[in-house]
Amino acid sequence: MSNTAITVRLQQPSARCRSALSRWRLLQRSLTVMVVVLLTGCVSVQTTKPGAIGIDRTQRMSSLVSAEELEKGAVAAYAQVLGQAKKEGALNTDAAMTRRVRAIADRLIPTVVFFRPDARAWDWQVNVINSEQLNAWAMPGGKIAFYSGIINKLQLTDAEIAAIMGHEIAHALREHSRERASGEANKALVIGILGAATGAGRTTQALADLAITTTIGLPNSRLHETESDRIGIELMARAGYDPQAAIRVWQKMAKVTGGKSGPEFMSTHPSNESRIKDLTQYAQIVMPLYQKSKR
Ligand SMILES: [Zn+2]
Repeated sequence: MSNTAITVRLQQPSARCRSALSRWRLLQRSLTVMVVVLLTGCVSVQTTKPGAIGIDRTQRMSSLVSAEELEKGAVAAYAQVLGQAKKEGALNTDAAMTRRVRAIADRLIPTVVFFRPDARAWDWQVNVINSEQLNAWAMPGGKIAFYSGIINKLQLTDAEIAAIMGHEIAHALREHSRERASGEANKALVIGILGAATGAGRTTQALADLAITTTIGLPNSRLHETESDRIGIELMARAGYDPQAAIRVWQKMAKVTGGKSGPEFMSTHPSNESRIKDLTQYAQIVMPLYQKSKR
């Protein structure tokens, strides 16, 4: 797949031709978007740039919920999760672990510009919840949670934490939550959560419920997982973490869980075996970025 992407880039036309082409493509794209919106209430979007790993899949987003609404919901949902953890005495209880996780985030977050320049200005937040769960997630707009269980049970190194965090950040950059809210399969669920209200009439609580359901409640598709694995491994390499560590995470996960995966990594995730194979291939692709980042 990446080989095809590289070949296409090498065969780009001349600059003058390219600018005419891109004007035509832009016009064509705006016309397509208009027609699609009129007919189905769906738009085709590219949430991210392809990066070195070359993900260029067009996503279909329904007008049921906008990116802004889902981000607003994520802010509220995140505050609720943290509030609950605090009440239970489980929020950032290990100061050294929180410092460590946040330091890794500080190295990773600047690299999002290679996929999504606007995401650099998101209000990124990173917190650690004291829990046995083998879990971590990132809600729309960059609200990250790490569970102490995944760090302790897998005895994660910094690079391995970076691999998991890069994967979760990738879900947020690609707006996989909104894409899931847009899918036919989840339409009834989304309408049920949002009720009949639209636009300004929607309560923050309804949007929070939707953000949490689409980020944590529903299993990710294999496609979303693979995309996040590949984007994640590029983010970590650019941040100066050895991409090989992403492979070790899944080897450790397989050992600890006996093949079954943790909550964010539910049943439709790729099998550990196919995931390790894919990550091995993509670690090679991003290795020069890692080497460059060390210089
Ligand atoms: Zn995932």
